[in-house]
Amino acid sequence: MSEKQDYYQVLGVSRQVDASELKRAYRKLALELHPDRNPDDRESEARFKEASEAYQVLSDPEKRALYDRYGHEGPRGGGFGGGFSNVGDIFSAFSDIFGDLFGGGFGGSPSRGAGRGADIESQVQLTLAEVATGAPKEVKVQRRAACQDCEGSGAAPGTSREACAQCRGRGQVVHAQGFLMISTTCPACRGEGSVARRPCPSCSGSGLRVVEETLQVNVPQGVEDGSTLRLAGRGEGAPGGGRAGNLYVHIRVADDARFERDGADLHTEIAISFPQAALGTTVKAPSLDGEVDVTLAPGTQPGATVVLRGKGLPHLQERGRGDLIVHLRLVVPVSLSREQEESLRAFAAAGGEKVEPPSERRGIFGRRRKN
Ligand SMILES: [Zn+2]
Ligand SMILES: [Zn+2]
Repeated sequence: MSEKQDYYQVLGVSRQVDASELKRAYRKLALELHPDRNPDDRESEARFKEASEAYQVLSDPEKRALYDRYGHEGPRGGGFGGGFSNVGDIFSAFSDIFGDLFGGGFGGSPSRGAGRGADIESQVQLTLAEVATGAPKEVKVQRRAACQDCEGSGAAPGTSREACAQCRGRGQVVHAQGFLMISTTCPACRGEGSVARRPCPSCSGSGLRVVEETLQVNVPQGVEDGSTLRLAGRGEGAPGGGRAGNLYVHIRVADDARFERDGADLHTEIAISFPQAALGTTVKAPSLDGEVDVTLAPGTQPGATVVLRGKGLPHLQERGRGDLIVHLRLVVPVSLSREQEESLRAFAAAGGEKVEPPSERRGIFGRRRKN
């Protein structure tokens, strides 16, 4: 076995950690590493056991004091008990933590099917247009669901489960250790209290089989990027027909170069010319419903905005839609036709504005180019 890690490091806490902070850190880790969330993941299981051992020592003031003084080596034999070999023991030892963490389904409950299936996650991507209307989206998931051949019982078709002889259906067995009576998960039935004498051949008695499914998810209109939909009971099945976990679908909204989103409001920018701004006109702006007309009043200023009410995105779970805010960017032409230049000069002259005279400017550039 590799060298033991420092208990404080295992739990990611400082050496000055107080009891409640310690408990919080362990709860967080336990939730993350819980075997039901990481089926068949040996590394998570090992870390779960390691964290539980660390918590067992550090949550006991006396053991913690010894550990602080001697480390792993000192009190062994006299003290720490050497950790957990069985995950069920962990649930029994810390039932106060797992009780409220997992709804009381773990550790100590003898009834079969009290467990809950693991949650699973998936992701869908939507365009802004889909956000505007709401959209049915297909989500492919791979999950363990109740075996159809045995209806999740794990017993071969035509047979049924029988009470476990070793624990007499309690799911727990009691050992004497010194003066202590220690109750642990029954190894014969893994705490389920019953066994399949003839396991179902389709699922090897587990009651669960891996299925691939395509689910239709109705993404509500107005949904935000980064939000998550919860589909209760669409996660993994629980052994023995317990409550299935949840499916969490993470929503990604694809960027749309035309718009910037601010909640239910959309911002867009269009270019307008000086004559359009000065004289007023009607121009086109993009919207999610196609192009829309934007009316510019005479004398529109650079950077002005026009608000099109109700042309934004629908509010999530509320009536109505946000606005489309059109930002007007005044664009100065980089080249002019002779006719445009002449009229612009006439315009400047009419207003008494001084501008660079034509012949002289061309002359300078002309000479420079020749040199
Ligand atoms: Zn089966
Ligand atoms: Zn048993």
